[in-house]
Amino acid sequence: MSAYAPIAAIATAPGRGGVGVVRVSGADLSSLVRRLFQRELTPRHAHYLPFKAETGELLDEGIAIYFRAPHSYTGEDVLELQGHGGPAVLRRVLESCLTAGRDLGVRLAEPGEFTRRAFLNDRMDLAQAEAVADLIDASSVAAARGAMASLSGEFSARVNDLSDRIIHLRMLVEATLDFPEEEIDFLEKYQARPTLDALTADLASLIAQARQGVILREGLHVVLAGQPNVGKSSLLNALAGDDIAIVTPIAGTTRDKVVQEIHIDGVPLHIVDTAGLRDTEDTVESIGIARTWQEIERADLILHLQDATQPGDELDAQITARLPPRTPVLKVFNKVDLLAAAFAAGPGELGISAKGGIGLDALRAELLRIAGWNPGAESPWLARERHLRALQDAAEHLALAGEHAEQDDRVLDLFAEELRLAHDSLSSITGKFTSDDLLGEIFSSFCIGK
Ligand code: GDP
Ligand code: ZN
Repeated sequence: MSAYAPIAAIATAPGRGGVGVVRVSGADLSSLVRRLFQRELTPRHAHYLPFKAETGELLDEGIAIYFRAPHSYTGEDVLELQGHGGPAVLRRVLESCLTAGRDLGVRLAEPGEFTRRAFLNDRMDLAQAEAVADLIDASSVAAARGAMASLSGEFSARVNDLSDRIIHLRMLVEATLDFPEEEIDFLEKYQARPTLDALTADLASLIAQARQGVILREGLHVVLAGQPNVGKSSLLNALAGDDIAIVTPIAGTTRDKVVQEIHIDGVPLHIVDTAGLRDTEDTVESIGIARTWQEIERADLILHLQDATQPGDELDAQITARLPPRTPVLKVFNKVDLLAAAFAAGPGELGISAKGGIGLDALRAELLRIAGWNPGAESPWLARERHLRALQDAAEHLALAGEHAEQDDRVLDLFAEELRLAHDSLSSITGKFTSDDLLGEIFSSFCIGK
């Protein structure tokens, strides 16, 4: 197994809870087990035991489970101590492990380090390791389901299948390269072209699915912009409905921004309810307005809310003129319930009543459409931006390979090289050739103890 120093951490969330878990992982923890309990533990059996300090003081009583390498989460020896879930008691149990494991060099684990070891010991690939974090972070049932599918390896299996097929094609090309007189016949002989076309098509469908997976994971950043009193807060509440709206830090004053996460079809929308945009002399308010413009610059989508009873308002025209040209803008007219006649929506416009619940389904559907969500196509797994980029990169190399195959002189070595590059891109998803920098970046976003 690995030659890394043993690591220890509290694996359960900070705060109070019924049960808390301290976890230790290391190449061989048998001596630590003896030190802690003055006895052997049967691997994978639950032992109800006193947890004691080195001084003999009783810290807690709970369940100890010892997993022998390689049959553990990390692939190393793992010891799990399940005690009472309070911060002080868990800290003391953790300290007792560090003290008892002094000679072994047991140290505190860094964020994601258990999972990193699982990855390094081939217990899971990189996409699966990422899915562990995504499962923990999942804020909707759909996202949790998607993360679980990735964790169980469905996504990796699709990537590996494409990789294997590229390798096979490459092998044929490389073999042919040794016999230059056969080059001309290569593409026909091995049906390289149809094979490449099939690969390209399967990769394209994987990309489409990954795109859905990314949307499910990252969602859409929507800025709710508009003049004061057009109904921005009312709309946010109406959209949130029964959904558990998670309000992320409400920084500063009420005139500052409020971010809420709502889910439509399981897709997270991070909605920023902004300070109303208008000319103002009030300094505090103008700060809020400056922030609003900053948020607007960063948005994936701007929902420009206007008052349906005040169409063609001069200030709204000014707001429209200032919106960043490349960001999609959805013009939504609120308070249509106050109109005598039905609201006549222009192209790209919607009429709603936040208070009357009119037009909200159409608005939800439109938000999903702009997010790129395809409600019909079920996304079986969660994906990251990183995966999508790698898949797209692989697709570009396959396309280049195809171009080389088209040329008259049929430069087979270039064809082979593009296949190699496509294969490398796919491998970066599952992490077979991944830089330490990227690994550091991925695992540092984990929580400690995972
Ligand atoms: P904000 O300043 O843009 O956030 O606007 P609010 O959500 O605070 O709403 C301003 C006022 O408009 C409140 O009195 C709301 O009750 C009212 N309002 C919001 N939506 C509607 C609507 O759809 N119809 C009507 N008639 N009034 C609304
Ligand atoms: Zn408001």
